[in-house]
Order: sequence, then C-alpha cells, then structure tokens
Amino acid sequence: MTGAENETRLLRRRVALVTGAGSGIGCAVALAYAREGARVVVSDIDEKGGEETLALIAGATAEAEAVFVRTDVTDPAAQEALAESALEHFGALHVVCNAAGIAGDPSSVGETSIDGWRTTIEANLSSVFYGMRAQIPRILRSGGGVIVNLSSILGQVGSPTAAAYVAAKHGIIGLTQSAALSHAREGLRVVAVGPGVIETPMISYLSPESRGVLLRLHPMGRFGQPAEVAELVVWLSSARASFVTGAYYPVDGGYLAR
Ligand code: NAD
Repeated sequence: MTGAENETRLLRRRVALVTGAGSGIGCAVALAYAREGARVVVSDIDEKGGEETLALIAGATAEAEAVFVRTDVTDPAAQEALAESALEHFGALHVVCNAAGIAGDPSSVGETSIDGWRTTIEANLSSVFYGMRAQIPRILRSGGGVIVNLSSILGQVGSPTAAAYVAAKHGIIGLTQSAALSHAREGLRVVAVGPGVIETPMISYLSPESRGVLLRLHPMGRFGQPAEVAELVVWLSSARASFVTGAYYPVDGGYLAR
C-alpha cells in the first residue's frame, strides 16, 4: 500500500471494537474496519470464531493490527474489561460496532417462555446497554467517536413468531436515540443499523419453507450478504457521516418499503 492509499482510508488512526466479531456481520465489519486502517479489538464469546476473524484480517491487510478478546456480552463486568482492553492494547477507543446477538426464542408473545424471554432480551438488548455503558466514557476520554448498534428490520415492525427478538431490536433503537441525545455535543455519534435477512449462521435454522416465505418479503428477491451490511457500518463509523446521529438505517433489500 502506498502512503497516498493509506491516507485515504476511512478509519486510519482509529481504534475500533466489534462484538460478535467471530461470525457473520460482526466478522465482516471487523474485516472492513481493518481494511479501512483501524486497529481492531475483535471480540466474541466463541474463541474459535474470533481467531478465524483475526486470521482473515491478517490475510487481507499486511499492516493490520488486531487482537482477540473473548467476552460474553451478557456479563457487565466483562464488557468493562473489553472496553478497557482497547485502551490497554491500542491506547484509545473511538469506534464500536455492537453486533453480538442470538436469534432467540422463536415464539409468539403468548408462547414465549419466561426463560426464552430473559435469554433473548439479555443477549440482544441488555448486552447493548452493558456495552454502551462501558464504551461511552472511554470513547469520550479518547476525544469522541461513534457507536453503531445492530438492530434489525424487526426493530421497526413486528413478527408473529419472534416476540422477544422484536422487543429487543426495538429497544436497541430507543437506547441508540437516548445515547445519541445525551452525547450529541460531545463528539460521540450513536446510530442503529437494521439489516434485512442476511446470509449468516444465524439464519441456518430456517427451514426451506421459511426461507421461501422470507425471500418473498424482500423486494430484491434475495437475502443480503454480511459485507453489504459492513459497507454501511463503515461509512457510518467514518468522518464522512459527521452529521449523522440518533438515526436508524435499514440495509434490507427493500423489506421496509413494502
Ligand atoms: P451470527 O450468529 O453469524 O453471529 C453472531 C455472533 O455473536 C456469533 O459469533 C456469536 O458467537 C456471538 N455471540 C452470541 N452471543 C454472544 C454473547 N453472549 N457474547 C458474545 N458474543 C456472542 O449472527 P449475525 O447474523 O452475524 O448477527 C449479527 C447481528 O446482526 C445480531 O445482533 C443480529 O441480531 C443482527 N441481525 C442479523 C440478521 C440476519 O439475518 N443474519 C438480520 C438482522 C439483524
């Protein structure tokens, strides 16, 4: 890479952290962040997935700097340690993508078990709260930055069979707006991204019939790829999005336009 090419990279001199980076969208975001010049803390509960993402990053850009920090995002103390690890390894924290999540209890409101509700909310919503609570003071101390939270199309509309997931993804948008308002004048932007159905291990449980039903809900007639979500996340994470905060951005092949 020439000096001129390096200078045009969107996240040069930034320190980034990605949760759920061992698979799917989080992996694509971590890779895209590294390609754009960020030093990256790759985090996941799954050590093998995290190490694979590190190897992908090393293979993609020779000068990449990335570390793996195993973290369970449902553990508030672990989230503190994870945010702190960015400062320990790279001296700052500027950019975060909270991508860890689970499909959760696939039930209607009346059929969702109490355990299923708690597990789904803890992994998909409380995790983002625990994360931002740890990340925000460290980003502010680093001079400002950006948090991108992974919501979903199901952060905007309901689903007959994913009540807890829908509630969590709607909740992420409210948390995102609240954090954005709290810190709008402090150089911290906070945004939410809402993917349509994306080809990742998260949707591997779908039956061929369910895939067919979901495909018909996407006007483009296909599901998205993790890299297509990462493109949007990188732009939102960069200085090019300097007047963007508190907003929700779909990347859904037209799903919400129906
Ligand atoms: P994925 O299953 O491929 O990846 C999720 C990652 O999160 C995995 O590596 C998993 O190990 C990790 N994870 C799960 N629980 C964790 C925990 N407690 N602590 C730390 N890491 C944990 O899924 P994906 O499709 O890449 O999903 C990423 C995000 O995008 C999720 O928040 C998901 O809800 C959201 N999303 C996905 C889709 C889709 O269709 N795939 C659509 C909309 C939104």
